[in-house]
Amino acid sequence: MKVWVIAEQKDGELRRVSRELAAKGASIGDLTVLRVTGEHVSALAAATALAERAKTESPDLVLAGATPTGRDVAARLAAKLTRAYFSECTDLTVEGSSIEVSRGMYAGKVRARMRAPLPAVCSVRPNAFPLPEGAAEPAVTDLAASDAPRLAFVRFEPTASSGGRVPLSEARVIVSGGRGLKGPESWPQVEALADVLGAALGASRAVTDAGWRPNEEQVGQTGKTVTPDLYIALGISGAIQHLAGMTSSKVIVAVNKDPDADIFKVADYGIVGDVFEFLPAFTDAVKQVKQGS
Ligand SMILES: Cc1cc2nc3c(=O)[nH]c(=O)nc-3n(C[C@H](O)[C@H](O)[C@H](O)COP(=O)(O)OP(=O)(O)OC[C@H]3O[C@@H](n4cnc5c(N)ncnc54)[C@H](O)[C@@H]3O)c2cc1C
Repeated sequence: MKVWVIAEQKDGELRRVSRELAAKGASIGDLTVLRVTGEHVSALAAATALAERAKTESPDLVLAGATPTGRDVAARLAAKLTRAYFSECTDLTVEGSSIEVSRGMYAGKVRARMRAPLPAVCSVRPNAFPLPEGAAEPAVTDLAASDAPRLAFVRFEPTASSGGRVPLSEARVIVSGGRGLKGPESWPQVEALADVLGAALGASRAVTDAGWRPNEEQVGQTGKTVTPDLYIALGISGAIQHLAGMTSSKVIVAVNKDPDADIFKVADYGIVGDVFEFLPAFTDAVKQVKQGS
């Protein structure tokens, strides 16, 4: 069984999701981690280079992170190779010559299990598989993109929300705020909690539409889909469009003063109370636990 992982790098380091997939891939079969290199490599050029190599090496399973780049490259590669493609997987198992995956559907309302014969290509959500403690950095094979780019990647430009924090889609802990926080002046308190937890910041669309927070922080159907270990929803009602982006989180904590708020239907832990009482008390409690450890 030959397994490929399409690696992504950020600031010269392998992205966490690529390392998670390398660990998973190694548990399935013979692993090759490939990184497409070159000037301004577009998803099209990367998929072309990978497809050329796949013709000679015939991988049974190709895994990519379900990041914007990973999804783009993986879908193009599957099309070029005319293979089954599963996007946004949250679990997968290989049995004999077939693969079965789990993924959310209908804006996260249901979880579907789907099966296809190998070979196949999958994009897998960050945090879907654990990164074993002390896992060695996987060996990465560089693959030069040779295709003349019809579409060129120019550069990344940092956004207002990216300074110093983990990217939202890869974060293991997210502190997310809704309209219940009343206004942008409440965010220093949200950030204080995020800081002690080493968390990324998220927001509901009510918040980003109001301009309290940048659009990049929006979680949900028309925002980012996130799969952290811990999602803390502060003053968020739990509209279906918000839930679409965060119900795959492993543990959901919700704070809302309305005991009937829909967010409690998906929460593992619910606190019925005032977010302005919760925030300073909880932030202090986390600080004390951290100082004690
Ligand atoms: C096509 C479409 C796409 C959409 N896409 C998205 C999306 O991607 N993401 C998204 O989030 N939304 C999306 N929406 C909007 C969505 O329907 C909701 O309007 C939005 O999620 C509501 O945001 P909210 O929960 O912050 O605000 P509200 O619904 O106003 O909820 C505020 C909550 O705060 C609680 N609260 C108030 N004061 C306090 C307090 N002091 N302490 C504790 N709790 C308090 C209230 O009880 C309430 O439950 C979309 C809508 C449409 C039509």
